[in-house]
Amino acid sequence: MATAVLLAPSTPPDYHRITSPTLRISDDHKVPIPVGILACQRDPLLRYLTTSVVATSLSQPVAPPTKKPAKKSVIAPTIPSDPLLEVILHDTVIFPEGGGQPTDTGLITTTANSTVWEVVQAKRHGGHAVHYVRVKDGDVDAALLALSPGASVVVSLDQGGWDRRYDHMSMHTSQHLLSALLETRLDLPTLSWSLTSYPSPCYVEIPRGMSPEEIISIQTEANRLVFEGRKVHIEVEELDRSKENGVPTLETGRSVGKALPDDYTGGVKRVVVIDGVDRNPCCGTHLPSIHNLQLFLLPHTEALSRSNTMSARLYFLAGPRLIAHLTSTHNLLTNTANILSCGAPLVPDRVNQVVDERKRAEKRLDDVETDLARFIAGDLINELSRIEGGDGVYKKHVHRTDDSGNVLGFLNAISFALSNQLSSVTKPYVVVLTSSPSMQTNTSTTVVLLVGSDDKLVKAGGEGLKSKLGVKGGGKGTKWSGKFIGVWREAKESTAIEDVLSGL
Ligand SMILES: [Zn+2]
Repeated sequence: MATAVLLAPSTPPDYHRITSPTLRISDDHKVPIPVGILACQRDPLLRYLTTSVVATSLSQPVAPPTKKPAKKSVIAPTIPSDPLLEVILHDTVIFPEGGGQPTDTGLITTTANSTVWEVVQAKRHGGHAVHYVRVKDGDVDAALLALSPGASVVVSLDQGGWDRRYDHMSMHTSQHLLSALLETRLDLPTLSWSLTSYPSPCYVEIPRGMSPEEIISIQTEANRLVFEGRKVHIEVEELDRSKENGVPTLETGRSVGKALPDDYTGGVKRVVVIDGVDRNPCCGTHLPSIHNLQLFLLPHTEALSRSNTMSARLYFLAGPRLIAHLTSTHNLLTNTANILSCGAPLVPDRVNQVVDERKRAEKRLDDVETDLARFIAGDLINELSRIEGGDGVYKKHVHRTDDSGNVLGFLNAISFALSNQLSSVTKPYVVVLTSSPSMQTNTSTTVVLLVGSDDKLVKAGGEGLKSKLGVKGGGKGTKWSGKFIGVWREAKESTAIEDVLSGL
């Protein structure tokens, strides 16, 4: 008979282990439990908690930082411009940012009148988790009253807040697993890591690039441990700063990871343990097991160079992000396959074929345009040779409609063919070539090219086009080119050109 292994819906009781005989979690609702042993850190699957308000104050808006943030990728929720209260609770399921993990978002419901307040972010101030609560309808007094010290509340992660947290936990716990394997198997310490905005891949920064074989071997080993479903637990004790060694540095002077923040006053030392794999000081929320964390490593590293040191980024995906990535890449591939009317595996071949065809078509178009240019030039020369011997300058305007990607190139090809074939003709000439797109609007561009037998004629012609038609352009020697913006009308612009020509 087949047996199903049911995954625990709640955090196992041995997840959070207090290893010191003296460390207690206060049940006095008048004092806040410090960051390090908050409910979200003791029980990462807990979504609701009944607790009390300890302190509340109006949040003074801080001026936005003048410097750009160092990592633009780290998620920061959009903070509304409404007034906010800073609320400290006795305990909370809302994680304040820390350890590279961004803040949670959630709700506080006041039990007295069942009013729901939105927590837009939480931050650690010293040792306390501070909830930034949105004031309803700008009524600060009512909010201060509802959330006054002693008020009974339920703090919770709503669906959006939970999805966000579950994604963060999945990526953070995967990062611990990945960093541990890189360190122990390849002697590659993690210099930094980034929990990027969902659904981008996160990355660890390591001192050198990795070969595809190394990446595969780490991925295989990680997923073997995932399959085994290694357990995760937390060990906490009082923090003794004199025993903290700080972070190691590499020969290059680059530090490995980050030390405990100087402003942390919670007094708790917290270590995240992945059974038989890793022990790492960290304040983040971590899943109780890696069983659901299939790890996908993007099969290449990205080289980074800063001032005098080199490092590399290895990108990874797990949990909800991996599913999102699979869905989006699948959709991209399927949509492309539909456009190309082929099965997904044939897409690379078909794309190659399309690119080849396109190159051939462009070559063919070039050839045809060159021929056409010669043909148009030939017509002009026939006309010119028929009047050879007459007096004055041969002047001609030819207007065309072209939807080519390179109109000036085409007009140049005509002028090139023209001057090539006219080198033996002695009669002076000025030819204006103009080309407009088939659909014209007020912002359409008509390309204007003027060629002639001598510099003076061309210069005078160019000046005339500028002053009479507002063409913007310039020229050198026997060629002048410019652009006319707007709708080109036969009766107006073409007539104006005739006027310019007749004045030469
Ligand atoms: Zn961590």
